[in-house]
Amino acid sequence: MAQWFALKAENPEFLLFFRMGDFYELFFDDAIAAASALDIALTARGSHGGEPIAMCGVPAAAAPAYLSRLIRRGFRVAVAEQTAQAPSKKAGKGGKSGPAQKGPLPRAVVRLVTPGTLTEDELLEPGRSNLLVALVPGGGGRGEADLRGVAWIDISTGQFETASCAPGELGHLLARLDPAEILASQDCDLGEYESRRHPGAAVPPAHAARARLAETFSVASLDAFGTFTDAEAAAGLMAVEYIRRSQAGSMPRLSHPQPQADRDTLGLDPATRASLDLLRARDGGVEHTLFSAVNRTVTAAGARLLSTWIAAPLTSPERIGARQACWDWLRHDSASLEALRQVLRGAPDIDRALGRLSVGRGQPRDLATLWDAVSAAHRAAAVLESVKHGTRPPLMETALTALRGAGALEGELERALADELPARLEDGGVIAAGYDGELDAHRALRDDSRRVIATLQNEYAQRFGVASLKIRHHAQLGYVMEVPVAAGARLRERDDLSFRQGTTGAARFATEELIDLDSRISEATERAAIRERQIFGALVARALDDRELPPLARALALMDVVQSCAGLATGGTWCRARIDDGTAFDLTACRHPVVEAALGTGARFTANNCSLEADHRVMLLTGPNMAGKSTFLRQNALAVILAQAGLPVPAKAAHIGVVDRLFSRVGASDDLARGRSTFMVEMTETAGILNQAGPRSLVVVDEIGRGTSTLDGLSIAWAVLEAMHSTLRCRTIFATHFHELAQLSETLPRLSPHTMAVRDWKGQVVFLHEVVPGSARKSWGVHVARLAGVPLPVVNRAARLLKELEQEHSVGQRPLPLFDDLPAASEAQPEGRNGSENVTREIFEQVLGLDPDSLSPRDALAALYHLKNAA
Ligand code: ADP
Repeated sequence: MAQWFALKAENPEFLLFFRMGDFYELFFDDAIAAASALDIALTARGSHGGEPIAMCGVPAAAAPAYLSRLIRRGFRVAVAEQTAQAPSKKAGKGGKSGPAQKGPLPRAVVRLVTPGTLTEDELLEPGRSNLLVALVPGGGGRGEADLRGVAWIDISTGQFETASCAPGELGHLLARLDPAEILASQDCDLGEYESRRHPGAAVPPAHAARARLAETFSVASLDAFGTFTDAEAAAGLMAVEYIRRSQAGSMPRLSHPQPQADRDTLGLDPATRASLDLLRARDGGVEHTLFSAVNRTVTAAGARLLSTWIAAPLTSPERIGARQACWDWLRHDSASLEALRQVLRGAPDIDRALGRLSVGRGQPRDLATLWDAVSAAHRAAAVLESVKHGTRPPLMETALTALRGAGALEGELERALADELPARLEDGGVIAAGYDGELDAHRALRDDSRRVIATLQNEYAQRFGVASLKIRHHAQLGYVMEVPVAAGARLRERDDLSFRQGTTGAARFATEELIDLDSRISEATERAAIRERQIFGALVARALDDRELPPLARALALMDVVQSCAGLATGGTWCRARIDDGTAFDLTACRHPVVEAALGTGARFTANNCSLEADHRVMLLTGPNMAGKSTFLRQNALAVILAQAGLPVPAKAAHIGVVDRLFSRVGASDDLARGRSTFMVEMTETAGILNQAGPRSLVVVDEIGRGTSTLDGLSIAWAVLEAMHSTLRCRTIFATHFHELAQLSETLPRLSPHTMAVRDWKGQVVFLHEVVPGSARKSWGVHVARLAGVPLPVVNRAARLLKELEQEHSVGQRPLPLFDDLPAASEAQPEGRNGSENVTREIFEQVLGLDPDSLSPRDALAALYHLKNAA
């Protein structure tokens, strides 16, 4: 227990997994918390201060599954292993056991398992980055006083990047990174990411950070990798130190820190990301997301790259064009495209294999992974070289060079690794025969001795006169000869045999010769194992040092994204967008890829054009609910994201002047959990847009002003629309219920009213999902209420009320009503409304009072007439 207390004191914020033989055991409060989180039995073991000690345990072999459940529930775990082997029970030459071990085995924490420092495949999602983010407040002069330094590391792949960020922008950056775990000083407000904070993170002193980070990467100055602010360097060091601690001192392979200039990416605030379901849907799943609609990648690294492209679209037409050129070139050669896909399908995950190898948890299969991946890369290069069409785009040329690399490593691994690899290094047989003379010699000695033993069986059978004599290997006894019990009794008299063990069926003996051979075999086996570990270690070091491997891995991931895009674009329904520095916005026959996919084959998606050219850059969209407004708004925002990520766009044609910031406010964003009313949220988000959008931005908003009374709402929507049109001058699609706003086009010259086409078919509404010029002349709310199953008396009553109201105010026949003229919600109650409500309630109550099972058909008919009269 003293040992346990010491380890727990070093890691108070972690559950301590304490290795005891084949189990990890947890004690005291750790046990209580883990037993309930894992739903396993809580028992007690021994006592402390007179109280029984709570305990629970999990089998070491099944630990990853339990760890994964604990991590998902927000726990962090410190794993304490036995750092020496238990003494072997195997008898020595003299048959006596070794000296008894005094005291407990030494133990040490060898690993901290936290959400941001996972390397095990079982705990990671293959196609997603798993980021650890560190945040350090600025203050280091050079005009960076207010900027926070941010660093993020994906330990499973080694990706390491930094950025500077104004406090107000932090939410955007975190939304883009979607970190698994955040390190930040207490004064740093993490907003909705608070739950991902690691409590008790220590901020390193900024002045020493540069030097220490440079030292970690063995360079004299961080400037070697680009320009970092002091706060960025401190954040980088904070993340690195935390990882070092989590891996108990052994540093995983990290690529050097790369500073990211945030200006180069499309601005997407958290509300916009949430409204567009880019990588995760609102329910937290990955189905029905933009990512899943465009993802045709076949490798985990490709999927990860694609998601970073979607999460951070670009703003430079050149860089976007460079990406587009790759898939645009490949899609014209369908045979090569298919061949490339086949090659990639078999290409394993280099980054994560390197991640495991670098923290000493690599297994033989990880080296095999590298070998397979390098040979896949060479095959991919061959496929690309065979493409006859056009000239290879520059990005493909660079990738091709990278794909051809690491040949020396491939050759080395090919010679070193055995054909059949064991699952674990300890099982032996990892290194191929002929690769290393010393290893071969140890193995030969071992195998010779085994051969000698095999020949001894016959010899002994004759010598001792027992035909059924067998020579066997026992875990505890080593090599023994085994004879039936009867023969055993006779042989026990002999001097040249020492009796080892008797069972009901057999007696076991050792001879000097067997003991000698046995120890020669175990010595040679031991030496071979040591040598094999050395060679394995050297190969791992060689792989980790290989400078051509990381670019090769990146090129493979890029090829996967390129083939994914090319595949998407070959069908003819996805296009390459024309992107330039202007302010054009012209989409022809554009679709919403997620809604389209969800419609399946049963229904057809209606494509729509959208033009926001300078002279009509503000589109005012009216139309009933369910007519497809939100879908249309979102599809235009998604088209921008896809286009600027360099991906194909689901349209016939697209011409977009680079958007610097995209704002999307579509669909209910209830934030009631944080104590803000829907209207408050809506206004906060509107404020965000009005304060940030500019002439290069795109804004798509739905129903501004819906959360308050009619008059209030109309005035707010009006004022916001005017500001977007005349002050911000951004490209805008503004969907609203206030048909009255359409009349503003008389005073706002760039406003173009559009509406969702609907057809009245025998009093029923039919949605055509088509966006047409003009404005809705009629509300269809009553029809939608009927579709939704609102009881008929209520629907009919509403329809009558609507007619009355329309006659009273004859909306649309006068110029835009002055506010004073508009019906206030409270004034709009016609007389008798309360009376009608009473009747409705009365009818409901009567229906509720009926018991259909006890009614005769005749009574039922009478009741129906009665109800009808009451209505
Ligand atoms: P609104 O925002 O006007 O209430 P939505 O955009 O939510 O309407 O659309 C409602 C439903 O109509 C969608 O779930 C989808 O099934 C269908 N829909 C929308 N747009 C289209 C379209 N262009 N083509 C076919 N179906 C569509």
